[in-house]
Amino acid sequence: MPITVLPEKVASQIAAGEVIERPASVVKELLENCLDAQATLITIQIEKGGRKLIEVSDNGIGIPPGELELAVARHATSKLHEAEDLFHIKTLGFRGEALASIGSVSRMTLISKIAENLEGAVMEVDGGRIKAMMPSAADKGTSVRVQDLFFNVPARLKFLKKDQTERLQIDSLVTRYALAYPNVKFHLIQDGKLILKTSGNGDRREVLANLFGVDIARQMLQVDLVESPMEISGYISPISLTRSNRKEITFFVNGRWIQDAALNAALLQAYHTLLMVGRYPISILLLTLPAEDVDVNVHPAKAEVRFHQTDRLFSLVQRAVRRSLLVNSPVPQVNAGYWRPIAQPVHQKDLWSTPAIAPSSNISDEITGSQESGTTPIGKDQEIASRLPILRLVGQVGATYLIAEAPDGLYLIDQHAAHERVLFEKYKRQHQSQIPSQSLLEPAILTLSHSAAEEFQGKLVTLSHLGFEIEPFGAGSFIIRSLPSILVGSDPQAAVRVVIEDFEEDETPLQNEIEDRIIARICKRAAIKAGKVLAADEQLALLRDLEACESPRTCPHGRPTMIHLSVDLLERQFGRRGSR
Ligand code: ADP
Ligand code: MG
Repeated sequence: MPITVLPEKVASQIAAGEVIERPASVVKELLENCLDAQATLITIQIEKGGRKLIEVSDNGIGIPPGELELAVARHATSKLHEAEDLFHIKTLGFRGEALASIGSVSRMTLISKIAENLEGAVMEVDGGRIKAMMPSAADKGTSVRVQDLFFNVPARLKFLKKDQTERLQIDSLVTRYALAYPNVKFHLIQDGKLILKTSGNGDRREVLANLFGVDIARQMLQVDLVESPMEISGYISPISLTRSNRKEITFFVNGRWIQDAALNAALLQAYHTLLMVGRYPISILLLTLPAEDVDVNVHPAKAEVRFHQTDRLFSLVQRAVRRSLLVNSPVPQVNAGYWRPIAQPVHQKDLWSTPAIAPSSNISDEITGSQESGTTPIGKDQEIASRLPILRLVGQVGATYLIAEAPDGLYLIDQHAAHERVLFEKYKRQHQSQIPSQSLLEPAILTLSHSAAEEFQGKLVTLSHLGFEIEPFGAGSFIIRSLPSILVGSDPQAAVRVVIEDFEEDETPLQNEIEDRIIARICKRAAIKAGKVLAADEQLALLRDLEACESPRTCPHGRPTMIHLSVDLLERQFGRRGSR
């Protein structure tokens, strides 16, 4: 075909497609406009996942009636005037494309009033053409109603997911903006139901509670670090609170929600060795940096940006998160409040106060100390996080816990969790060469349902790398010929079933993540159980093995292996030192 210039209508729909992919992209653009207009109240109404209606109203500065028509023209914006401005953008919008794009693929009604005028104006746009414009009664602010999205772009319409899926996308988008802008009141109404409502009083932890529930909100750890001219703040989940995918990792840069692989990596690296592979934190982190240091003009939907100082930013994120994790939970501390003598006034634990885990161990003191000088190298943080002091075994209690002593206090160790950790690291080391495997004297037969068998068949190769020798035997049956050595002695069918239990849904489980999860399951099964009396030499061996671990403080599933009662805590509880 010869080269021709596309008709205006086609060109505008193509451009729209880059910005407006689905209902959530409409909501995002409209929200950004409200925030740029300094709104303090934003109301979002959705019907049928946005397919039928998206209406976003604000109490911001409004659009003068004489400019309404321009607002929906392509490349018309009030936020940018010359090329130079592109290098220090402080608003969320800047291309003047969103309203034009939305207007070209829907039936859109724009109502707006500025403070100076007594009445506002309303304008109707239908598939990109201005249909009507007239004065209208309105409160100060702007309201954009988008109906019948993609009515004139059947190809797009076909790619929309189920209403429910689109609805969830919008929920999660609005949720994130509500968290990033705690000073703005958000109301989200889906199909007539109030889904989300924030107070706009500026308290981000309150928004968290609103969105995730009080329990999770209370557990989230605060992150705050200023290294002029950069700043990071927000919340991260403790190592005990994780998800099976990365969906709840959120970054805002200068008020803009963005996706960035390097920032994700920095966050995950900060958790490294503390989380089991395949588990991810929940986080919302807000970065502030000079507008000049971020190039926001690189992605059609403005969902990605480019940084001028990636390394510095990476290190800031990593250190801020690492510190927050260490200060808040190096080893779970027995909540001092729990032991507080009755005579002392018990303060009602404020919902929004710091988590019950008190940052009072020597380990965290050390970190806090060095934090002030601002010079702790990352490597050192990590060392402190994982290293255990040399422990002296005191004994076993309740056939479940080991007690040990170190210069910094008393350690209560969960024998099952600790052994899981020891086995996990040993297995992982062996995995790099060859996992010792042992043939069964009598091969065992395992029979599965049709669908389970199909799925299992797909895992046989992975399992063979992990020390299992299993062959299909027809009609949903399999022959188990050998097991990894650490499982020998257990019932072979049961051992294999443990491995194939349903995994939690993850979009892209990587091969080594799957393997790690399987290894973790195997180790859980093989580990010493709670309730087993251990001989003194077994106790000692476990303790030494644990000391040698790279991440002795958590089991492979991220649960703590130990509780630390610091000398400091003991002294305070016994009244040897000034009470708090
Ligand atoms: P951009 O946000 O990139 O400028 P848009 O197409 O989203 O482009 O909006 C075009 C213009 O319309 C904006 O520059 C702004 O002047 C005006 N506008 C849009 N939405 C609002 C709103 N909610 N309140 C006030 N002005 C708005
Ligand atoms: Mg905009």
